Amino acid sequence: MSERSVLGDGTRVVRAGLPPAVPGQPFLPGPVFAAPYHLDPATGPVPGRDGYGRTDNPTWRALESAIGDLEGGECVVFSSGMAAITAVLLTVLRPGDTVVLPADGYYRTRALAAQTLAGLGVTVREVPTAGRYPPFDGVALVLLETPANPGLDVCDIAALASVAHGAGALVAVDSTTATPLGQQPLALGADLVVASGTKALTGHSDLVLGYVAGPALDPIRNWRNGTGAVPGPFETWLAHRSLSTLDLRLARQSATAAAVADLLATRPEVGSVRWPGRPADPAYPVASRQMRRIPGIVTFTLPDAAHVARFLGATRLVGAATSFGGPHTTADRRAQWGDPVPDGLVRLSCGLEDTADVVADLTAALDTAAGSG
Ligand SMILES: *Cc1c(COP(=O)(O)O)cnc(C)c1O
Repeated sequence: MSERSVLGDGTRVVRAGLPPAVPGQPFLPGPVFAAPYHLDPATGPVPGRDGYGRTDNPTWRALESAIGDLEGGECVVFSSGMAAITAVLLTVLRPGDTVVLPADGYYRTRALAAQTLAGLGVTVREVPTAGRYPPFDGVALVLLETPANPGLDVCDIAALASVAHGAGALVAVDSTTATPLGQQPLALGADLVVASGTKALTGHSDLVLGYVAGPALDPIRNWRNGTGAVPGPFETWLAHRSLSTLDLRLARQSATAAAVADLLATRPEVGSVRWPGRPADPAYPVASRQMRRIPGIVTFTLPDAAHVARFLGATRLVGAATSFGGPHTTADRRAQWGDPVPDGLVRLSCGLEDTADVVADLTAALDTAAGSG
């Protein structure tokens, strides 16, 4: 039987970053816990050989090889998504530079820019993900986030990368909500991908991690070593172990999100349902061209915070929690964290439960919250 030349997503995530098969060895070697490693007493540290735990770790390299395969570039893993974003912003930007950030993206990125970049003499310009984008003349870095968290607007990575490159700007894409199975920013022309591995990528709500992917990451690797924003070997290993189920998890989460978005669209008390996979969604045309699958996140608004509290109090299957992409369906009222969105805006993360159970539970909880249950 001839092997298919292009392996499917399920096959790729199961095999990503695994060492060659050796009888008596595990499929995925366990985490390596080391601060110093033995040195050659005569030659001392040798490039390419593990020497110290802030610089070198084989468990990192295995996960980096896995994510790098999926993103189509090199990968450097970090202790969190914010550590990875910080690495990109501060290795690229210099005083006097201008950076373009999403006005509706992850709120901590804007806070970091306001607190740190502005103080370093970097001009920060915020643009909504859906546009319109101003000309990029004089811009050093354009950081896109698509689909944007929490509002789920989508931008055209290839078109924006082409305009930005014409103006001499670098383009980085925060691809956290999509994961590398959802879209391939590097193939679409982005220079760098940055993401949180805390969310759907690893998907078990049990670790915090981030990564940068791109073609030549020595400055990013040096930044990690210099600032010490290193992930723990155990988290790194857990992330690699969890990657093998990414295809299956996204399939269930996305199918449930489709059903939930359809349900929410029928509810009179629910406003602005956003899920880029719904043909009625404003992001649908770009998302359906650019994305290979749509995340299991649905964002919508209820009339106010009290209505959200009644809804959360009434559900049996939806946990009140932030983050997304885990096995349990969760809902987060984003304004409670200081995200500048309407008080009743809810970001719902669809888990791995049976779709019909989630839809039935949401229906009952919405009825109760509206006073009709
Ligand atoms: C969560 C998130 C981050 C930050 O990741 P952490 O792992 O929590 O530091 C960055 N960008 C997006 C889009 C996120 O959702």
